[in-house]
Amino acid sequence: MNIANNHDFKGKVVVITGAGGVLCAFFAQEIAKTGAKVALLDINLESAEQYAQAIVQNGGIAKAYKTNVLDLESIQQTRDAIEKDFGTCDVLINGAGGNSPKATTDNEFHEFNLADSTKSFFDLDKNGIEFVFNLNYLGTLLPTQVFAKDMIGKKGANIINVSSMNAYTPLTKIPAYSGAKAAISNFTQWLAVYFSKVSIRCNAIAPGFLVSNQNRGLLFDSEGNPTARANKILTNTPMGRFGEAHELMGGILFLMDENYASFINGVVLPIDGGFSAYSGV
Ligand code: NAD
Repeated sequence: MNIANNHDFKGKVVVITGAGGVLCAFFAQEIAKTGAKVALLDINLESAEQYAQAIVQNGGIAKAYKTNVLDLESIQQTRDAIEKDFGTCDVLINGAGGNSPKATTDNEFHEFNLADSTKSFFDLDKNGIEFVFNLNYLGTLLPTQVFAKDMIGKKGANIINVSSMNAYTPLTKIPAYSGAKAAISNFTQWLAVYFSKVSIRCNAIAPGFLVSNQNRGLLFDSEGNPTARANKILTNTPMGRFGEAHELMGGILFLMDENYASFINGVVLPIDGGFSAYSGV
């Protein structure tokens, strides 16, 4: 079943950051099926272009734009180019984000007598932490500053941010990413309130654990059995399985669509098989 058929965004301009990446490229592909004009923004132009071309080959309307979400001038230039190509933004999806190994501890717990080579909390690199906070938080705030200006008073205008399970309870090893995604959930509520008088809604999705081509090797061994970390995730996911990227689409299209979600503002929607609801006991 093609759930895009339930939504009509013909003529709407949907701007997606991080659209050269796994999830947001998929969002772009599916959103294009609703008739929207999709702008794929990424610092990696080659990747975004490849996805945009695939959409166009399938009869959709899409174009890639090289954009650094941490550089206001770059975002402004992209905004101007999109206006020429498609018109001004109706829906902004802030998808660019990620973690860094420099902001990741080796172990889940600090313990006595750790080997000197172990990267502990005390060894985390300030630049790595800044990188993660900036990419996720500023990388959401700055595009919103640029694109939301055009959305003021536009019927159906809205913003979707991408939070994470980390925002509810931090996952081990990744304090910067967890804190940054908690900030995204908080910022989503802030924006929802701030723009409530000028008819821009703002919501977020919080994806649970998904299998993608990128992490399949970490989650399953060569025989297809879950690894130790994968088993831990599955034990803590009441539905007992990983999610698939396509299972995020219902939430995104629903939140984007004024016909379904016109009074939904400031929510962070977990799409996680129950992970965030489960205490583990
Ligand atoms: P990904 O790494 O495949 O894609 C991220 C994209 O962002 C990349 O194409 C990268 O080039 C781009 N990017 C990085 N820095 C940028 C910058 N400065 N300016 C513009 N673009 C930049 O990641 P993904 O797995 O597709 O994740 C997409 C979003 O979903 C992220 O915000 C991530 O934190 C979030 N998320 C992912 C998962 C998951 O399981 N994959 C779960 C929860 C949340």
